[in-house]
Amino acid sequence: MPDQTEADMTGVEQRISPKPEVDAIGGRTLKPATLMMGHGYDPALSEGSLKPPVFLTSTFVFPNAAAGKRHFEGVTGKRPGGAEGLVYSRFNGPNQEILEDRLGIWEGAEDALAFSSGMSAIATLFLSMVKPGDTIVHSGPLYAATETLIARVLGKFGINWLDFPAGATREEIDAVLHKAAASGNVALIYLESPANPTNALVDVEAVAASRDAVFANHDAKPPIAIDNTFLGPLWSQPLKHGADIVVYSLTKYAGGHSDLVAGGVLGSKEQINTIRAMRNTIGTICDPNTAWMLLRSLETLELRMSRAGENAAKVCAWLRDQPQVERVGYLGFLAEGSTEGPEGRQADIYRRNCTGGGSTFSLYLKGGEAEAFRFLDALKIAKLAVSLGGTETLASHPAGMTHLSVADERKQALGITDNLVRISIGVEDADDLIADFANALAAI
Ligand SMILES: *Cc1c(COP(=O)(O)O)cnc(C)c1O
Repeated sequence: MPDQTEADMTGVEQRISPKPEVDAIGGRTLKPATLMMGHGYDPALSEGSLKPPVFLTSTFVFPNAAAGKRHFEGVTGKRPGGAEGLVYSRFNGPNQEILEDRLGIWEGAEDALAFSSGMSAIATLFLSMVKPGDTIVHSGPLYAATETLIARVLGKFGINWLDFPAGATREEIDAVLHKAAASGNVALIYLESPANPTNALVDVEAVAASRDAVFANHDAKPPIAIDNTFLGPLWSQPLKHGADIVVYSLTKYAGGHSDLVAGGVLGSKEQINTIRAMRNTIGTICDPNTAWMLLRSLETLELRMSRAGENAAKVCAWLRDQPQVERVGYLGFLAEGSTEGPEGRQADIYRRNCTGGGSTFSLYLKGGEAEAFRFLDALKIAKLAVSLGGTETLASHPAGMTHLSVADERKQALGITDNLVRISIGVEDADDLIADFANALAAI
């Protein structure tokens, strides 16, 4: 929670500071799981309330006119460093600020922002970085709405794009970045790893090295942003591997209960200030109630993700031995993967950049749509719904649902076949889930 401000007798603002944060004890730096219970919130500032209240207000009262002016100097960028206190709820609020403080901790980010959805986070990031004539270089495929936003929406405003496949080698990334750099100003390099539904991992370290080499003689290097929704923050922390900005749909694992929609962006103070200015202008911040729910979610983030990850490892190890199963596309298998060819390169990225395989995977059944539908319709625990990262197990059919409108040729190229089922494993009992899948496979 931000410091409150008041004026002393000289009219100079003083900050009523919350109690100093305890983030280390006896030289031991406290872990994110510990800090999620209290970081950024001092009960003494809210009547001793153990949990932060939901601050339902559209605006905040200034202690005096000079303080109001000073706040606006911060908000409008007249004075660097942003607002020193709370001004108006389109800019920020106590619940959102606590959430932002805690979000940043997971990846050791300097600063973070909360948004009304993953897509409003991504759209605000793009709007804050690009202008007509610029190029966005991105890995492919991307979340469908992100691809639409880049190609169709930003395209209308004269913004160009170039892409490379998610699993690209350093040489392939170099080639695309050289081409982009030769064609004009590259405003942003935008990645998504793993790609959905191919599961291909992007080599963030190679992208960063390529960016640094290709733009070595330019005044400014384009920042690297990455959508970390599928593996973050537990199993992948791209800021440590060369990314500058990390984007989240908090709707998924971070929210984790399939009961809210929100987004987040993490990065350096400098990058976040640029993005915050756009969010202040267009109002894509999340509401206080959603922020409060996310604070509750973050308290169990590590518990939920660990359990879901363990469940997925157990379920996938079982699934791949079943006679009705053609193949299981589960990232965790890369840990034991070969070191040869494209698969070996993916295993190498996995070992360098990931600490777990997540709990969302692709199940290719023997057969086609009819077999996939019979399997889905026979599930009793897993619910038939799109989305992922919740406490409950979900299953869907990409070819017939999320990717229905994708052209057949591109579907084939992305491996979105009629026998593909996408599964997001939750925190149920793993053996109960295996019983459910066994029953559904038998029904094929
Ligand atoms: C869901 C999702 C988004 C969009 O997030 P919303 O919260 O639905 O707006 C973006 N990227 C990825 C990888 C997603 O899974």
